[in-house]
Amino acid sequence: MTSEHLILIELGDILGIAIDCERCGTRVFYDLGKIELDRIHPRCVNCQEPLLDSEKKGPEITNLREVLSGLRALRELKFKGTIRLHIRTE
Ligand SMILES: [Zn+2]
Repeated sequence: MTSEHLILIELGDILGIAIDCERCGTRVFYDLGKIELDRIHPRCVNCQEPLLDSEKKGPEITNLREVLSGLRALRELKFKGTIRLHIRTE
């Protein structure tokens, strides 16, 4: 028998995202309710290592901004049901 551990997270419980630098371990937290999407740092704020393959105008930073913008918009919508993110923990 196979089992897996799943977690359901309500959208309203998502506070933001954290980005960890692989080089130095510095973690930057972006509060979903407060972040200005054009102010996401494409480089580590501590060691200046690029965190994305391209900076400022590349598809990676654009996609990240769109995901954050979408999460923010979904959190503010009123549903008659509950939408949750479904996350596997193993
Ligand atoms: Zn760093």
